[in-house]
Amino acid sequence: MTIVPVCSFCEKKQQEVKRLILGPTGNICDACVQMCHDIVSEDQEPAVEAKSEPIPEFGSLPKPVELYAFLNQYVIGQDKAKRVLSVAAYNHYKRLYAPSTDEFADVELQKSNILLVGPTGSGKTLLAQSLARRLNVPFTIADATTLTESGYVGEDVETMLFRLYQVAGQDLEKAQRGIVFIDEIDKISRKSENASITRDVSGEGVQQALLKMLEGTQVNVPTRGGRKHPQQEFMTMDTSQMLFIVGGAFHGIEDIVRHRLDSKTFGFLGEEEKKKIVAKTDPYAEIQAEDLQKFGLIPELIGRLPVIAPLEALDEAALVQILTVPKNALVKQYRKLMAVDDVTVDFDDEALVLIAKIAAAKKMGARALRSILESLMLGPMFDAPAARVKKIVIDRAAVNAYMQDHLSYGQRELVLRK
Ligand code: ADP
Repeated sequence: MTIVPVCSFCEKKQQEVKRLILGPTGNICDACVQMCHDIVSEDQEPAVEAKSEPIPEFGSLPKPVELYAFLNQYVIGQDKAKRVLSVAAYNHYKRLYAPSTDEFADVELQKSNILLVGPTGSGKTLLAQSLARRLNVPFTIADATTLTESGYVGEDVETMLFRLYQVAGQDLEKAQRGIVFIDEIDKISRKSENASITRDVSGEGVQQALLKMLEGTQVNVPTRGGRKHPQQEFMTMDTSQMLFIVGGAFHGIEDIVRHRLDSKTFGFLGEEEKKKIVAKTDPYAEIQAEDLQKFGLIPELIGRLPVIAPLEALDEAALVQILTVPKNALVKQYRKLMAVDDVTVDFDDEALVLIAKIAAAKKMGARALRSILESLMLGPMFDAPAARVKKIVIDRAAVNAYMQDHLSYGQRELVLRK
């Protein structure tokens, strides 16, 4: 009689499994090996969580002036936003780490979550990201329009917090001191028109969910992220020490601000004078809580965003600088790429100005620059390494050729007339 070997764990026969490993006193199949591996890994997980970086000394934190100087290396313009952000971030970490004196023992410092208001591609994400880099805290970005109240299709607050935990190297303490950037907050205003049937992006519910997180709450986050493992374990993440930076373009808020200024602030002036002053004022710099409420944010959420930092639309001069000045400016990046093949790349000034004009015409802020450069550089990057070319110059003619291929006649006219 032949003995058919079976798995000693699940008792499946050899032909029922992919692989059966035979041992001197028992056998194990591939599926049971995997299951054992999962069990052992789970046992090890708490050990990973337990490892936690020491809390930084308050004195080692960068001062607002240092934060501002750091932001200057990466972000062009946006002076006001840089200052506001530097102070707010410093105050936030002061609240967490500074030793309290007896005199102020009863004074509770409230959180200084920040609202960045400015057009697309003006540097909101870049500012938040650069700040996190300097503060050496974990950072994650979420899009408010993909966030939903729990239970709906889309990304939940839990998933976002799980990402922060992963970025923090699974150090829960560190993740809880991180920075979360939530973009497109303006798209979940109550009057938003992009509501759909399956996802609650119509506003209020998501705003309420965000509000809780901003106020500081305990969120049960799956230790593996996602909802694929119904039997998974949860950890509790506390959001009260996280710094939330929310951003949005708030298209149309200009009119709300102008209307308020027009009717209230200058009530004692004559019509002509009023118009002149309102026309000169930058409405984004004047945004106040009541404007945000009119726009469709719920008052409770606005109350949790006490710091408003306005960003300006980038003009051509700023776009030229963005191409060349920041530490990792696009032009520098292409130079570095080509230097690997011993090829030098030069962009002449006229070409840079024309590229900035094209980007400005696309009305996507600095976001358009990358795709323009990528198209311009495609040919050289394809040919130069094999052709043993030593130097490439991107001049006005090259940019003109790009315009011929990528812009309509009307768009070209618009760019050239600027
Ligand atoms: P926003 O979040 O305001 O829509 P981003 O910060 O994502 O814009 O900017 C998109 C890209 O454009 C960034 O990767 C960055 O390279 C560039 N950029 C935008 N604004 C600036 C700026 N003020 N200075 C330098 N680069 C910028």
